[in-house]
Amino acid sequence: MNRLSDRVALVTGASSGIGNAIAAAFGREGASVVVADVRREPKLDGERSVFGKLDDADAESRYVETDVTDEEDVQAAVETAVTEFGGLDILVNNAGIYYQYEAHETPTEAFDEIQAVNLRGTFLCSKAAVPALRDSVNPKIINLSSILGLVGDGKSAAYCASKGGVSNLTRGMALDYADDEINVNALAPGIIKTAQNAEWRENDPELLADWERRTPWPRFGDPEDVADAAVFLASDRSDFVTGHVLSVDGGWTAQ
Ligand code: NAD
Repeated sequence: MNRLSDRVALVTGASSGIGNAIAAAFGREGASVVVADVRREPKLDGERSVFGKLDDADAESRYVETDVTDEEDVQAAVETAVTEFGGLDILVNNAGIYYQYEAHETPTEAFDEIQAVNLRGTFLCSKAAVPALRDSVNPKIINLSSILGLVGDGKSAAYCASKGGVSNLTRGMALDYADDEINVNALAPGIIKTAQNAEWRENDPELLADWERRTPWPRFGDPEDVADAAVFLASDRSDFVTGHVLSVDGGWTAQ
């Protein structure tokens, strides 16, 4: 299918996990993709990076080493889309980090870092992208919130604060840009099997059992489950959907 033909997408944190799957899915749907990640080079999964998948899809792509907390980096990533591909239609604010501490044990630096990457990074990328998105015929911003941007959880207060901020930044920006017809939505994944939670899934049987108990669907999510929802929000099938936070969580927040 070519639901994103002739579109140009910028996906942050797309070297790995959910962002990688979103970039690849967008490429398969016909988009050109700028992959922006803090890593110097895209992460390898075996011998392949996200560009292996994009090449398989015959998608045009570029890599820009980008720290989403750095305004100059972010501006350069947006400019790459505009100069290399002629514009920007879709921004996916996916870069994110997660630590587990009870609130009083959270190092203040870790609290600040989570807000800087997850919330401020989403704001900076969106701010940089809006002028280019205003020139697009079908502009979309998709933010990665989380189930923890909708409900709380233990040992995650700093992350909950950042993702709660992303959910409501999404609603605020949707209102700012409704007149411009820029759709601004968020995805709220549940437990998705990526590097972000691999250590706990592999080494903390108690936490793993707790996550399984709280996920009504009989499996955790795959990055492709989130990518499918991102394709919907990036396509013209979602043109009247804005300010929405879409759970992709196997029912976690339905309880
Ligand atoms: P991941 O760790 O596999 O990938 C995150 C990517 O972001 C990495 O490639 C990393 O290099 C990049 N990144 C980190 N800091 C960055 C920065 N400052 N600038 C640019 N890139 C940076 O994680 P994931 O599970 O794929 O998570 C993707 C998004 O989905 C995150 O926002 C995460 O919080 C959110 N999320 C994940 C889950 C889950 O269960 N995996 C659940 C809910 C929400």
